[in-house]
Amino acid sequence: MEQNKPIERELENAREVVNDSSKVVVLTGAGISTDSGIPDFRGPNGVWTKNPEAEKASNIRYYTTSAEIRKRNWALRASGDLWPTVAPNDGHKALAKLEEKLLLLITQNVDGLHQLAGSPADRIVEIHGNTRNVQCLDCDYLAPMEEALERVRNGEEDPHCEICGGLLKSATISFGQSLIAEDLLRSEQSIHECDLLMAIGTTLTVGPINRVVPLAHSLGKLIIIVNGEPTEYDALAECLIRADISSTLQEIC
Ligand SMILES: [Zn+2]
Repeated sequence: MEQNKPIERELENAREVVNDSSKVVVLTGAGISTDSGIPDFRGPNGVWTKNPEAEKASNIRYYTTSAEIRKRNWALRASGDLWPTVAPNDGHKALAKLEEKLLLLITQNVDGLHQLAGSPADRIVEIHGNTRNVQCLDCDYLAPMEEALERVRNGEEDPHCEICGGLLKSATISFGQSLIAEDLLRSEQSIHECDLLMAIGTTLTVGPINRVVPLAHSLGKLIIIVNGEPTEYDALAECLIRADISSTLQEIC
């Protein structure tokens, strides 16, 4: 087990860094939800590989112009096949233990599992939105997803906004939609205030949010990267841990 020794040292190092920090910003990506059974999108068994229609529905241009794509997407959602019922895993739970150390948790995931694990909702930024709600594309109408799915199950194939008649869509940021400027600003601001940034389960290739890592580095903040594979910014990390995410977080949080 010679080869495990460097990992042990990195874990020990990371544990100390987390212990010594009082203002932690966490950035999470799809990798933290893998153990919860959230399917990936583009892998061999990915949601989009098996359902090319679902990929089209995630593009705002197709979604707004094709009633057929919307109808099939609503039917898929109502069937429960698009997002299986999932629960937070040990990785989400370990992060929830950061409690008062946590300054901000920025997630690229839309699954809501950090909230379910007990991380405080007012300190979570869902940079790509979430699938718990539906929103109107024309007005401020926002409602629980389940309400819209109930309408679909009751026979409405393409439910529209009850206020203005506009198109309804899950409250996620689709391809072709802009991120919410306020969320980006809040994320960037947190980097200025933190003493540690932990990037977990993300290859750090999706911009612009991945830029918080070089920003943290340029401000002299400590950086821990935990991911199963190499990331864009491995060279900037104080501690780089390439291992199972759930068990690593249990060790260091
Ligand atoms: Zn509306």
